[in-house]
Amino acid sequence: MKSYNSFAVAQQQVLEAAKLLNLDAATCELLLWPQREFKFTMPVKMDNGGVQVFHGYRIQYNDARGPAKGGIRFHPDETVDTIRALAGWMTWKTAVVDLPLGGGKGGVVCNPRMMSERELEHLARAYVRAVARYIGVDKDIPAPDVYTNPQTMAWMMDEFETIMGAHQPGVLTDKPMQIGGTEGRRDATARGGVITVREACSVLGIDPQKGTYAIQGFGNAGQRAALLHQELLGGGRLIAVCDSRGGIIRPEGLNPRDLVTHKLKTGSVVGFPGSKEIPRESVLELDVQVLYPAALENAINEFNAHKVKAAIICELANGPTTPDADLILHAKGIHLIPDILASAGGVTVSYFEMVQDQYSFFWDEETVHKRLDQKITKAYHTVEEAIKEKNVHPRLAAMVVGVARVAEACKLRGWV
Ligand code: GLU
Repeated sequence: MKSYNSFAVAQQQVLEAAKLLNLDAATCELLLWPQREFKFTMPVKMDNGGVQVFHGYRIQYNDARGPAKGGIRFHPDETVDTIRALAGWMTWKTAVVDLPLGGGKGGVVCNPRMMSERELEHLARAYVRAVARYIGVDKDIPAPDVYTNPQTMAWMMDEFETIMGAHQPGVLTDKPMQIGGTEGRRDATARGGVITVREACSVLGIDPQKGTYAIQGFGNAGQRAALLHQELLGGGRLIAVCDSRGGIIRPEGLNPRDLVTHKLKTGSVVGFPGSKEIPRESVLELDVQVLYPAALENAINEFNAHKVKAAIICELANGPTTPDADLILHAKGIHLIPDILASAGGVTVSYFEMVQDQYSFFWDEETVHKRLDQKITKAYHTVEEAIKEKNVHPRLAAMVVGVARVAEACKLRGWV
């Protein structure tokens, strides 16, 4: 099986958009690379008395439109190139939803599943000590990503404020509500995705209430999408789900609430009563109305794209589809809602959290939901227009929107 370099994928997407936009060579070169990269080691005292040295990264891809913004991932397969790609995708994502932010990403090579709560806290604090000089409300604002969560953000914020000697809750987002977090952030990525599915169904004239859906990846985004799909679209049958331990199917429908409870209790979707076990990869290949890839990069690629049968793909993960697969899916007439649009709900509500932290004045849940809906709906239709105007596949259209906005900001600043 071929392995993909996510940064090479991300750069190819930029090149294609730059070509359509006729960007000059200097602008194109600038947008092909991160502006700043930090790499550091973090010695952490482990529970067994020994010291383990972890490798960490923070990459600020582009801050022409505002401070860098993006999550921190704890994952054993992290590399500088995955973080570069993810930082780039954050840049185009914040631009597509028109937030006054740039893009960044961080990561630590580690296996959080093998670490204790105490070890994770020490690692989170060590990370902040390494990057404290480079982050801040007006520089770069991290958030959670794969295998990090509001508790990680709480430790990180505390470490940052201890270093600075002042309250600065806006330095990180998706914090617990009691210490500067916002209403509506936990389900924001999935909510934004389901809103794009609602818009896609209305454009395509499809009724989601009678349709089926499947979810690949059952972390925060996948779990929330399982619930919100039915809640926001007024129905739909969840027939298959997988996580890193395996896949399950039940054609009559899986109860999302019970499934989330099962996952929280057992650590996996496998073994859910009434379901049948299937290979993880086959969840991507089922005949469903909506498929939510909600795991990691490069899941849909040239080897399996021709087997995908969904009518709509809503990418809650970052970078789940490779460029060759984009062409295959497009040729098959599948309606793909690209990650930089479909998964933009999270960073949108992160931005709302920053604004609320700035003023220490917090909005109610309804206000957050309403403003999120407005932002995502508008972005969805901007991308739809670009698809028609440029006559290209949806990812390229979304990239054209995002890259054009960032390029314009770079030009206005006199960088290129
Ligand atoms: N990690 C999320 C993403 O990939 C959220 C980033 C943020 O809120 O800054 O979009």
